[in-house]
Amino acid sequence: MAQLRFTFGTMGSGKSTQALQIHHNLRARGLTTILTTQLDRAEGRVSSRLGVSAEAEVVDPSTDLFELVRRRMARLGSVDAVICDEVQFYSPVQCEQLARVVDELAVDVYGFGLLTSFQGELFPGTARMLELADQRSEIQVEARCWCGARATHNARFVDGVQVVSGQLKVVGDTSGPSAGEVTYDLLCRAHWMDGARKATGAQLELLGSDEARQPPSDDEDHSGPVEVDPAAVPTPLKANER
Ligand SMILES: [Zn+2]
Repeated sequence: MAQLRFTFGTMGSGKSTQALQIHHNLRARGLTTILTTQLDRAEGRVSSRLGVSAEAEVVDPSTDLFELVRRRMARLGSVDAVICDEVQFYSPVQCEQLARVVDELAVDVYGFGLLTSFQGELFPGTARMLELADQRSEIQVEARCWCGARATHNARFVDGVQVVSGQLKVVGDTSGPSAGEVTYDLLCRAHWMDGARKATGAQLELLGSDEARQPPSDDEDHSGPVEVDPAAVPTPLKANER
């Protein structure tokens, strides 16, 4: 019976390394595999931090994974397994297509992805994979927070300051004239939450000072619902959002 497997872990836990290992092992046995990834820094490849890499199909939001596998089966005669890296960035619909690959085409699917985002919440693709998978497993890697506790949370920093708002997907080396330097690090939950609280507080403070600069005039009626112009709300922590 084919199965939908989902393996998750933090950044640097070796998800890509494991995806590449499975890809390699199955190919060494003469099996046909499809390796897929989402747009990464290295286009069309899955790369491990340990230096191994392999060519991969790039999945974009318009990719129909079921059709991709079905067509490949028609062309090659058979496909034995589909190995998907960066599944957190696949859409929930694409995760459903992977489930159909298992159920209707009887092909094994191995998905790998991050559990939670820098905002501390499940990625949409991850949530769908957790809901659909036959098997779910967490990669346990001894990563440590700077305090020495087990690191379980992905944190995003702009110019060294932890942020919790911004686009879900910002590649670390994105740079522009006004963009701050985006980096990622692993923290324990307590320090992730501490940084998240400070980031939220900094945003509220900025909102507060903005109100102070523009006091409401007295002849306005303040009894009704307050209209907020979204464009007027400062977004200082959304560096790199383009
Ligand atoms: Zn810590």
